[in-house]
Amino acid sequence: MSSIADNIGTVTRRIQKATLKAGRKPDSVHLLAVSKKRAADDLRTAFAAGQRAFGESYVQEALDKMETLADLDTIEWHFIGPIQSNKTRQIANAFDWVHSVDRLKIAQRLDEQRDSALPPLNVCLQVNINNESTKSGCSLDDLTDLADAIEEMPNLSLRGLMAIPDPDQPEAELRSSFRKLANALKKLRQEAPASGPLDTLSMGMSDDLEMAVEEGSTWVRVGTALFGPR
Ligand SMILES: *Cc1c(COP(=O)(O)O)cnc(C)c1O
Repeated sequence: MSSIADNIGTVTRRIQKATLKAGRKPDSVHLLAVSKKRAADDLRTAFAAGQRAFGESYVQEALDKMETLADLDTIEWHFIGPIQSNKTRQIANAFDWVHSVDRLKIAQRLDEQRDSALPPLNVCLQVNINNESTKSGCSLDDLTDLADAIEEMPNLSLRGLMAIPDPDQPEAELRSSFRKLANALKKLRQEAPASGPLDTLSMGMSDDLEMAVEEGSTWVRVGTALFGPR
């Protein structure tokens, strides 16, 4: 079994290769280490190997790890899971980023509950790009209204869009899902001013990160390829 440090190297080289192929700068894509269901020690090992950004999907599990890893002061926490409204206060204040905002009520609560002494919370709107009935995410048609509403929210910075396309669809359709998300971000940038730089496409996971990078991803969210099977 290869070590977490080796895996970080391997995934980083995969990202670099994909950026090269796409004619993009290697540092234009960030690696989010998806650490849900991993022990705090695994995160510490990844941190020691240089990894700073970690993605968590379950609030209580994440808060426990934050406490255990409180000495790692340059660690960056990203929330990527479905959001229940009774958890927004903890999410708003414990995390640096939230990739999975998918409705107005959640955005409003995160804005109201984020401590205004902290920097604005970086948020992405999650899009249900394949219209799967079982998946969270807003529809492409909702994006303009949501972005307009977030413009009025001082404690949120709208960074961009996130999607989890159905990984089982044929390659051409997967690519077209990534492209749809990239085009939706371009469209948002051309519309009214937003409360944030709209510089982020959170897409691509262990098995499809190359394709996502070719289609413009700026954050790939990788769990299995770094830490092994869950
Ligand atoms: C679990 C998860 C990932 C990572 O998936 P892997 O296949 O382990 O790389 C990425 N994004 C989200 C939203 C996840 O929940």
